[in-house]
Amino acid sequence: MKKNKTKYIFVVGGVMSGVGKGITSSSLAAIMQARGFRTTAIKIDPYINVDAGTMNPTEHGEVFVLGDGDECDQDMGNYERFLDTDLSRTNYMTTGRVYLEVIRRERNLEYEGKNVEVVPDIPKEVIRRIERAGREASADVVVVEIGGTIGEYQNIIFLEAGRMMKTKYPDDVAFVMVSYLPIPSKVGEMKTKPTQYASRSLNSVGVQADVIIARSEMALDKKRKDKIATFCNIVPERVISAPDIDSIYEVPINFERDRLGEIMCQILKLGNHRTTELTAWKKLVRQIKTVKRPLNIAIVGKYFDSGEFVLSDVYISVIEALKLSAYQAGVKPVLSYVNSKDIETGKRRVTELAKYDGIIVPGGFGTAGIEGLVKVIKFAREKKIPYFGLCYGMQLLVIEYARHKAGVPGATSREIDPTASDLVIDVMEEQKKNLADKNYGGTMRLGSFPAYLKKGTLARGAYKAEMVTERHRHRYEVNPAYIERLEKAGLVFSGTSPSGQLMEIAELPKTDHPFFLGTQFHPEFLARPLRPHPLFSEFVKAAKDHHPKTK
Ligand code: GLN
Repeated sequence: MKKNKTKYIFVVGGVMSGVGKGITSSSLAAIMQARGFRTTAIKIDPYINVDAGTMNPTEHGEVFVLGDGDECDQDMGNYERFLDTDLSRTNYMTTGRVYLEVIRRERNLEYEGKNVEVVPDIPKEVIRRIERAGREASADVVVVEIGGTIGEYQNIIFLEAGRMMKTKYPDDVAFVMVSYLPIPSKVGEMKTKPTQYASRSLNSVGVQADVIIARSEMALDKKRKDKIATFCNIVPERVISAPDIDSIYEVPINFERDRLGEIMCQILKLGNHRTTELTAWKKLVRQIKTVKRPLNIAIVGKYFDSGEFVLSDVYISVIEALKLSAYQAGVKPVLSYVNSKDIETGKRRVTELAKYDGIIVPGGFGTAGIEGLVKVIKFAREKKIPYFGLCYGMQLLVIEYARHKAGVPGATSREIDPTASDLVIDVMEEQKKNLADKNYGGTMRLGSFPAYLKKGTLARGAYKAEMVTERHRHRYEVNPAYIERLEKAGLVFSGTSPSGQLMEIAELPKTDHPFFLGTQFHPEFLARPLRPHPLFSEFVKAAKDHHPKTK
């Protein structure tokens, strides 16, 4: 196939954040891909942090990890899921990353003695990165999502990059504004004014939206579409109604129903596009809507508190991975979020967890809420409730087993108590210097690593493979000095690094427990809508059988 000229679609947010710009960008990318265009997606975050790795999860949400180890925004996970593609660090940029490169080049005399300025040199670097991501993916279409909302000072340089690209290639660049139309309860009417202001504010930086995605509780009526069209300078057909829906996987289908793909092809002069049925997506959505039997899973974590609100965004990939395996197994995932700090302080009793079909402890850092988690894991083991531990959830599984089954009552991790004598989880040798130098950014064991699976284990049975590659993000490891004792006590290390040095999966044999397994890596990052993750599917299978009476 002859390669098209690369086209760029900038997605920007109007009015307010948190209305689904990431899902919009992912869905837009998915429908372009379904039309036969090679599509990639880029996320731009306006903060100074060079990556998302150094941010507190309750502040930022999930840190998603790419195969190459980049620690980035959770939207990158949405893109990978919706496109079923692995992305690279080129697809992610922050203000910090852009400035770091410009300053590095300035120091290397790469600007040949010229005055280096915020404008145009920073937007130029942004453009260089966008084009490079397009080239690396041999993309026909590059979707570029600019984080934050129009009118924030910090994303001005990125909008300027978009404007400059549009000026340079008028037929190859389009702008999609994702807006929000509130329905104030006292007024009872959908209001278009905030969208009008957002459009004007976009105009003030020299950008005109080609399409407006109008998010709201309900679908837009004709009157509202016409009003937005008139005041935001676009034809009514290019105002796309995006009402709240039950499943994010329905968004691409809804977009196609409103002919968004066709509209984008018209704007970008992408001829000869094939129309698409989105058959696989429709099948998935049908499945989501028909599953009835509930599967009650508790996610016990330490990052749920955000003021008075419960924040589940931190675990978004875990939640999606679990949901996707549940749909595939024909059950309806009902997730409860349990704060481990509440168990630790006694505010909630661990016995409350008996009602769940399965328990997950996802990744985490630090000491707060940890003893609560160990209590939960012990309870899951003793009551034979399916338990799945991810990263910290695996390390704590090992600690729990060491303390209560392998005769190491003081077992802990260096992360929890560096002065303890039984560091069953310890720092990796090469990490010692990083910690001593306080060199924290991007220095964990990050990205894809292979693991070998032991014959006859739960893990090997689930994957049906001898070798797997999974994504990591951790500084600590199972201490080799304790492996023999743990194994003697019945714990099986079913996955190890190729050298056999690093323990990647720990489990109990099926004869002892229906599912008691932890992974040092994060399997959730590789679960895809059309390809659920085998370990999550195995966990769901066990959870489904946990309360057989309710079948
Ligand atoms: N805190 C643990 C470590 O650094 C686990 C990390 C995680 O759960 N992602 O090894």
